[in-house]
Amino acid sequence: MTHSLDSGIWSTSPLYKNASADLELAANLMGLDKNVLERLRKPKRAMAVSIPVRMDDGSVKVFEGYRVQHNTTLGPGKGGIRFHPEVNISEVSALAMLMSFKCSLVGLPLGGAKGGIRVDPRQLSRAEHQALMRRYTMEIITMIGPEKDIPAPDVGTDGQHMAWMMDTYSMGKGYSVPGVVTGKPLDIGGSLGRPESTGRGVVYVIEHAIEMLNRQKKASIQLNASTATVQGFGKVGAVAAEELHQRGCKVIAVSDFYGGLHNPKGIDIPALVRYVDQNRSVVGFPGAEAISGEDLLGVACDIFVPAAIDGVVTMDNVHKIKTKIISEGANGPITSDAQKVLEEKGVTIIPDVLANAGGVIVSYFEWVQGLQMFFWSEDEVNEKLGQVMARAFNRVAEASERYKCGLKTAALITSVERINRAMLLRGLFP
Ligand code: NAD
Repeated sequence: MTHSLDSGIWSTSPLYKNASADLELAANLMGLDKNVLERLRKPKRAMAVSIPVRMDDGSVKVFEGYRVQHNTTLGPGKGGIRFHPEVNISEVSALAMLMSFKCSLVGLPLGGAKGGIRVDPRQLSRAEHQALMRRYTMEIITMIGPEKDIPAPDVGTDGQHMAWMMDTYSMGKGYSVPGVVTGKPLDIGGSLGRPESTGRGVVYVIEHAIEMLNRQKKASIQLNASTATVQGFGKVGAVAAEELHQRGCKVIAVSDFYGGLHNPKGIDIPALVRYVDQNRSVVGFPGAEAISGEDLLGVACDIFVPAAIDGVVTMDNVHKIKTKIISEGANGPITSDAQKVLEEKGVTIIPDVLANAGGVIVSYFEWVQGLQMFFWSEDEVNEKLGQVMARAFNRVAEASERYKCGLKTAALITSVERINRAMLLRGLFP
C-alpha cells in the first residue's frame, strides 16, 4: 500500500513531508485502514489570517498568521503558537499532526492543533508583541476556546503571550476564561511545574531508555557516569540540561542560535542558566570553549538532546553524530532518512511525540485545574507527569518489540492505534 505524498498546500514544507513519510511507514507496518490514513494525512481545519499591527514608529505592518486543527476525534485541539520567520501553513499543519499523535500516545482526551505567526520575534518591542498577539487572538477567535482548541506557548512565545491571549479572549466573553490557554503565568491560573515539564519529560524518558537498554543487555549505561550534549538552550533545552546535570550526567556541550560551548569536563549548568538569564545567549560564557552550532553535532557523547528546531539532523550531517541515545526535545529534529541511518548504527532515538510530551501532559493538568478551579502542588504535578510518561514509554517499548521496529515508528503506531479506534467508533459524518 503506497500513497503519493502530494497533499496540496499542506505538503510543501520538509517537516510535513517528513511527518507524512513517518506516518506512512507506521501505517504500512500496522496495516492501517487506508481510509483512516487518508484522513490522518490532512488537517481537519485551517485558518490563515492577516494581522495588522501599529508598530512603534507609527507605521502599520501586516503579518501572516495561522491556526490549524489536525484531528479532534479524541477531544479539543491542543498545540502551541510559534513566532518564527519561517512559519507557513504547511509547517504549522505538520506540527498540528505531531500534536494529534502526541496527545493520543500519552492518553490525553485532546486532539492536535498548532498556530503560528510569520515574524522574527527578536525584532519586535514588547508593545508590538502584545499588539500582535491580541489581534491574532481576535482573528482566530472563532476557532479557539476551552472546549474547542486550547493554545500554549511554543518557539518564540511564552507565558506572557498566553496571558495576553487569555485576557483578549476573556474580554470578549465578559468574564475570565483561564481554560482557553495553557502555559499561563501562575498568578492567572498557570500550573506549578508547567515551565519545566517538557525538559523534565525529555530526561524521564532518557532514564527509561537506559533502563530498557541495560535490561535488554544492548548497552551498559549509568546516567550519573554519562556525557550529554544539548542543542538549543531555551525553555526545553536549558531545563533538560539542568535535569541531566542534577542526575550527575556531565553536559559537555550546548548550543543556541548564536553559537555553542564545549567543555569535556562538564559545563557548570546552573551557572550557565544564570548567565543566559542575563545575556540571552550561551555565547561568551566563561568556563567552556566556544564552538559553532554545527560543531556541537560532532561532539561524541552518550546522550544527545536536540532541543532547538526541526530538520537539524539531515543526510548532510548525520555522519557526524556519535552518540548512543537521542531524546528529541524539539519537534522533528531528525529527517526520516537520517533517522534510518542512525537506527542502523544502533542509536536509540526517543521520538519527539514521546520525548517532549511532558509539556502537553502538564498543559492538560493545567487545563483540568483551570476548569475545576482547584490547583495541585508541584510534587503532585511531577508525580503524575512521571506516571503518564512511564506508561507511554512502556506502551512504545512494547510496540517496538511487537512490530520489530525502532521507538519512533513504534510511538506512531501506538498513537495511531488509539486515534484509529476512536475514529472507527465515531464513524464518518454524515
Ligand atoms: P525556545 O524559543 O524557548 O528555545 C529555542 C532555543 O533554540 C533557543 O535557545 C534558540 O537560541 C535555539 N535555537 C534556535 N535555532 C537554533 C539553531 N539553528 N541551532 C541551535 N540552536 C538554535 O523554544 P522551546 O520552547 O525551548 O522549543 C524548542 C523546541 O521544542 C521546538 O521544536 C518546540 O516545538 C519544541 N517543544 C517545545 C515545548 C515547550 O513546552 N516549550 C513542548 C514540546 C515541544
